[in-house]
Parts: sequence; structure tokens; C-alpha cells
Amino acid sequence: MRLFDLHCDTITELYGKKGQLKHNGGHISLDRAEYLEEYVQDFAVFIPDELRGEEAVKYFDGVYSFYKEQLLENENLTEYKDRKNSKFKSILSVEGGAGAGGKIEGFYHLRDCGVKLITLTWNGRNELGSGCFDDEDIGLTDFGREAVKEMERLKIVADVSHLSKKGFYDLEKIAEKPFIASHSCCDIVDNYKARHRNLTDDQIKIIAEREGIIGVNLWEKLLGNGNDNSFEAVRRHISRIIEIGGEDCVAMGTDFDGCDINEDLRGIEKIKDLYDYLGCHGFDEKLLDKIFFANGDRFFINFI
Ligand SMILES: [Zn+2]
Repeated sequence: MRLFDLHCDTITELYGKKGQLKHNGGHISLDRAEYLEEYVQDFAVFIPDELRGEEAVKYFDGVYSFYKEQLLENENLTEYKDRKNSKFKSILSVEGGAGAGGKIEGFYHLRDCGVKLITLTWNGRNELGSGCFDDEDIGLTDFGREAVKEMERLKIVADVSHLSKKGFYDLEKIAEKPFIASHSCCDIVDNYKARHRNLTDDQIKIIAEREGIIGVNLWEKLLGNGNDNSFEAVRRHISRIIEIGGEDCVAMGTDFDGCDINEDLRGIEKIKDLYDYLGCHGFDEKLLDKIFFANGDRFFINFI
């Protein structure tokens, strides 16, 4: 099987722990991904909500240097944009538009570092607008609108995961290119986190109509799996996205190393079990490949 994962926090997590991508005890290590025939991983530099302005840029630069080191240390991992024939490919993203430091020039710096996707906000408010847990939802700021336009020009994908509802509709009004939800689930779960983080049917419809994609998150709170089998919970979310937006908009956005995941899904080696489960529950091979790889690959080839 092939995997194209739209979101993980592995590089940020390893930076903090001084770990190595090749082998570690977290959710993703390259040695445990060997079974995949082809593997594209989006690695997010996560910007905490406490960091703004220059502090956020400095933090990004630190994680970025570590990311480059890891690329040098692993010959079988190359950047997706290089189109080299390596088994593993990486895409660099920033989780939190604060990584631009509140200046338009900051986006040029991120582009120069090879960033291909920016999650506009994390949970709180930043210079671009309100995150999904902001006390008051102000949507996108004027700077946020300007930032989205500049990102489109620089061929950086806008990501609505963590964005507030008002922010989403502000983006819909101004975006000329498709946008994505890199790690989100559907509005079929009723708990506090899921109500704010998951996508409504209307949001799924809009993302799909704009030819964007949605990566299904494996976080137990968003899946709402409780004591239930996690594979079945993922199946329900994928089926809902297909029902509303069609087969071409659903992808994987594991959120590995960024959240709590039930044991049956915890780790890159468990993706194969999920793939097999779905294969036994009505998903044919072509559809499975779309979900796990081809939709993500098509989107990024067209966008960047
Ligand atoms: Zn996240």
C-alpha cells in the first residue's frame, strides 16, 4: 500500500526531545514505515499559541534546521517537490500562521524554506485570525486576508484545520485556489473538542466543490470512538466525507505525534491494519488508494 499523510507533528516532537526520525519510540519513525511501497509525509512545524512575532519566527527556524538535518541523515527521504525517485518523500508545513511573524515578508521566508502548506491558525487567535477555541470569533483579520492572497501567489496551500467557523467562511469568500483541511473529522461526534474542531457538512461540501481535500484525523476525541473499535470510527468519518463531498476529497491526516490515539491505531505501522479493515468493509482497492494516497498526491501535484 501507499500512504500520503497530510499532517503529523513528528518533526516538532523530535526537535523537543532530540530524537531521530529514523528510529524513535513515537508514532512515526522511518524504520517502521519500511512496509509502505511509497510514502509521502507532511511534517508540520507546530507554532505554540504563546509565541507571536519574532519569537514565533525564531522557533520556526530552530525546528526547520532540525528538519534539514534529518533530511541529510536519511538518504531514503527527499523533499516531495524534488520529484526524486525515493521511497519516502516529505512536505514541510507550518501549523499556525504566526510562523510568519505577523509580516507579509515572513511568508517569503517560509516559501524560501520550502513550506508548502500553512495551517492558518492553531486553537487560539493569531495575526491572521481566530482559531477554533478563540473566546470571540473574529474570523480572518485584514492581515489574514492579505496573507491568504500572498500564499496563493507563492503556491502555499491554505489549511483550515483549527480555523474558526467565521474564519472558514471569510476564507471561502476570498480564496481563488482550492484549500484543504489537513487533519479534521466530521460533525458526527458530540463532545466539546469535536464540536469546535470537526467540519460541518456545509464545510465539507465547500472544500470538495473547490477541489480541496480533507485529511481524516486519528485523534480519539475527534473520531469519537470511545470504547468502540477505532477502525470503525474512521470508517464512519470517511464514509460521511464521501457521502457529502465524493470520493476525490477524502485523504488521511493522521495527526501522529500531535494527539492521543487509541492503541489499535497508534503508530505508522498500524495504518496497514486500518487499510485492511476498510478493505473488508466495502472499500475496493481503487478507492483505498485514493483515500490513502492518490487524492493527496493529485492535489499537491496540481497545486505546487
Ligand atoms: Zn493540529
